[in-house]
Amino acid sequence: MASGEAIILGSGTSNGVPMLGVHYSPEFLANPKNCRMRSSCLLKGPTGNFLIDCGPEMRLQLVRESIFSVHEVLITHTHADHVMGMDDLRSFCMVEGRELSIYTLPRYQQDIRRIFPYAFGSVPEGVIVPRFDLRDAPEVLESCGLSIHIFEVQHGSVPCLGVRVNDFAYITDVSFISENVKFQLQNLDVLVIDAVRHEPHPNHFHFDATLAVIAELKPKMAYLTHLSHEYDHNTFEDSLPPNVRLAFDGLSIPI
Ligand SMILES: [Zn+2]
Repeated sequence: MASGEAIILGSGTSNGVPMLGVHYSPEFLANPKNCRMRSSCLLKGPTGNFLIDCGPEMRLQLVRESIFSVHEVLITHTHADHVMGMDDLRSFCMVEGRELSIYTLPRYQQDIRRIFPYAFGSVPEGVIVPRFDLRDAPEVLESCGLSIHIFEVQHGSVPCLGVRVNDFAYITDVSFISENVKFQLQNLDVLVIDAVRHEPHPNHFHFDATLAVIAELKPKMAYLTHLSHEYDHNTFEDSLPPNVRLAFDGLSIPI
């Protein structure tokens, strides 16, 4: 039985869609599903909201979804499109008067300290700054009333964290999944997974590679995410198998 809800806050690749400097057809722009903020996901549990990644549009995404608190955060990796909204977490720190727990790999904790040094150490008088409590991501995290299973996939030359909650899994930014992790991804109701573009990419599964993984894992339903502007919701879904759809910003999935 579902115990919560996953909301796809953003379904776009690192450039976002529409991408700066590119002209699009009026038909493409008229479909709101073709407007993609940077990829992230919110897990709404029985006792709180768990944020996965914090891209540059995080504030806009949470305002759009009427989310008024974030309990804890998981950073899958520290590419700019997944961390550059973290400064805006300062508002939750201020309103709730507490540090935010940020779960990620040790190597990414170093990056976060380098990018946001002012989120650690003493707080300047009269200034509002984010306060981060960096923690190693455990294999199973009990948070927000959810059991969040966390695993590593490969994203080009760096690791990226994925999650499974009940029969829902979310894997952004992936180019290789080990057999051990594939074993943990059996019997899924819903898999949300990277399919960045049509042509092969050194750091991401492209469309054909993602479809092959979906055929292997056999989730009841799969949503493609981290999408470039090559995917047009007006036309592309007609070519997909019935159990595969394009994710879109605001997509809600029971978990
Ligand atoms: Zn990345």
